[in-house]
Amino acid sequence: MAGIFSKIIAGEIPSYKVHEDDKHYAFLDINPNAVGHTLCVPKKEVDKIFDLSVEDYNQLMHFSRSVALAIEKAIPCNRVGMTVIGLEVPHAHVHLIPLQAMEDATFQKKVTLSPETFQQTADKIREQL
Ligand code: 5GP
Repeated sequence: MAGIFSKIIAGEIPSYKVHEDDKHYAFLDINPNAVGHTLCVPKKEVDKIFDLSVEDYNQLMHFSRSVALAIEKAIPCNRVGMTVIGLEVPHAHVHLIPLQAMEDATFQKKVTLSPETFQQTADKIREQL
């Protein structure tokens, strides 16, 4: 059965899309650590990131890098952090998080955003791609 991220990629569950290519999809995390927190996901559903083939892993990193550079331009921050966890959703993904301070990387401080702010944030990042 398709997992939640595969349903998002298929458009069966809505998301604030940031970027897409033939093999990857990027969208805003619904429970973000900070404004601009983005998930980059391979369209092929593989649970653990290090189970991706070397080629698929490298392509995900390349895609994530291009999204991170756009986030850095669009969202005021000290830098964009990259984290891989995967304890909640068993579909390999990279978290890209605009960081002001270490606590933004801890997944303990969360921000609540309106639908309008989510949409404007996705639009701003997309404009930089
Ligand atoms: P992880 O698997 O890396 O521990 O965490 C999964 C991440 O996916 C969490 O940060 C969570 O907020 C996010 N997430 C889970 N379900 C959804 C969803 O339906 N839509 C979006 N946009 N993000 C989700």
